[in-house]
Amino acid sequence: MHPLSDMKLERPASAEQAVALLAAEPGARLLAGGTDLVPNLRRGIGKPTTLVDVSALPGFAALAAAADGNLRLGAGLKLATLARDPLLAARLPALAAAAAAAAGPAHRSAATLGGNLCQDTRCVYYNQSEWWRAANHYCLKLGGDTCHVAPQGKRCHAAFCSDLAPVLLALHAEAELLSPGGTRRTPLAAMYRDDGAAHLTLARDEILTAVQVPAAPAGLRLGFRKSRVRGAMDFPLASVAVALTLGEGKAAPLTSLAVGISGTNSHPLQLQGTEALVGRPLDEAALAALGKLVQKQVSPMRSTVTSSNHRRLVASVLAQRLLRELATA
Ligand SMILES: Cc1cc2nc3c(=O)[nH]c(=O)nc-3n(C[C@H](O)[C@H](O)[C@H](O)COP(=O)(O)OP(=O)(O)OC[C@H]3O[C@@H](n4cnc5c(N)ncnc54)[C@H](O)[C@@H]3O)c2cc1C
Ligand code: SF4
Repeated sequence: MHPLSDMKLERPASAEQAVALLAAEPGARLLAGGTDLVPNLRRGIGKPTTLVDVSALPGFAALAAAADGNLRLGAGLKLATLARDPLLAARLPALAAAAAAAAGPAHRSAATLGGNLCQDTRCVYYNQSEWWRAANHYCLKLGGDTCHVAPQGKRCHAAFCSDLAPVLLALHAEAELLSPGGTRRTPLAAMYRDDGAAHLTLARDEILTAVQVPAAPAGLRLGFRKSRVRGAMDFPLASVAVALTLGEGKAAPLTSLAVGISGTNSHPLQLQGTEALVGRPLDEAALAALGKLVQKQVSPMRSTVTSSNHRRLVASVLAQRLLRELATA
C-alpha cells in the first residue's frame, strides 16, 4: 500500500458544517472510522482533495429509545458499541450479533454504523494495489473499460458487503439524511441501487445522520447468520437476517416475514415476494419456497474467491435455517 497523498483534513463542529464542506469542495470525501475508506485510498482508489472527518461530531453517536419503542441509531455509533450495548442486546440481539460479526475487534472500535452502511462495494479485481490493477489494465469501475468479472457487460457487479444492512432491512429501518437542503427520511432500501460502481443514491453533499428503527411488533422473532471463508474475520459470502411473527396454535402460520441479504449483490437485498408465505404454516414446502425466492433474487458474480453458485446456495440455506430456527424456537 502507498502512503496517503497530500490532502486537507477538516474537522467540522456539526453535521451541517460537514455537508457545507462537502458541497463547497467537489473533491471532498466524508471520513468516519476510516476502516473502509483509508485502505482503499492507500491502494490508490480515489484521490480526494479533502477529508471531512465526522468521527468526533457531537451527538453523531447517540442511541435514543423513544417511548413508543422506536430506536434512533446515530450514524457515528461504533460497531463495538452496537455489539455490546445492553439496550440493543435486550431488544435487537441480532443487530448486536451482526455488529460483532463485522471485521475484527480493532476495526470495530473505530468503524461506525454510517460507514458500514455506506461502505464501498468489493471485488477481487478492484480491492488491489495500484500496480496490480495497472498490470490488469484496471477495470470498468475505475480507470479501465472492461469488467473482468463480466467482460461482455456494461456495469460493475462488485458486491456490497455490509453485515448490518440485512438486519436493518428486515426491520424496515429508515435512513435519516442531511444535505445543505435540509433533512429527509427514506426507507433504508432506497439508499441503494444495483450498480457496483455507484451503489449509493445519496447526493455528493448528503450524509447519513441516523437510522430509525421502528418499534418491533409484538412477538417479533429476528435472527442473523453470516457465512465467510475465515471465521475469525472476513467479509460475508452472504449475510442474512430474517424477521417474522407467528400466529396462534399448533401449526402456527407465519403472520409476517421479512428477509435482508448482503454480500451477494451490488446492493443489500430486501427479499421480494415473502408475502406469499404469510398465512402458511412452516413446513418443508414453505422452506423450499423461501429457498427458491432467495436463489432467484441473489445475483452473486465472480467478484470473490468463491464461486457464484456457492454464494447463491449459501444465501438460500442461511435463510432457510433461520426461518426454521426462528419459527420453531
Ligand atoms: C480487514 C477488513 C475486514 C472487514 N470486514 C468487514 C465485515 O466483515 N463486514 C462488514 O460489514 N464490513 C467489513 N469491513 C468494512 C468496514 O470496516 C466496515 O464496514 C466499517 O463499518 C466501515 O465504517 P467506517 O466508519 O470505518 O467507514 P469509513 O471507512 O470512514 O467510510 C466508508 C465509506 O462510507 C462513507 N461514509 C462514512 N460515514 C458516512 C455517513 N455518515 N454518511 C455518508 N457516507 C458515509 C465514507 O465517505 C466512505 O466512502 C472490513 C474492513 C476491513 C479493512
Ligand atoms: S465487478 Fe467488474 S467492474 Fe466491478 S470492480 Fe469487479 S472487475 Fe471491476
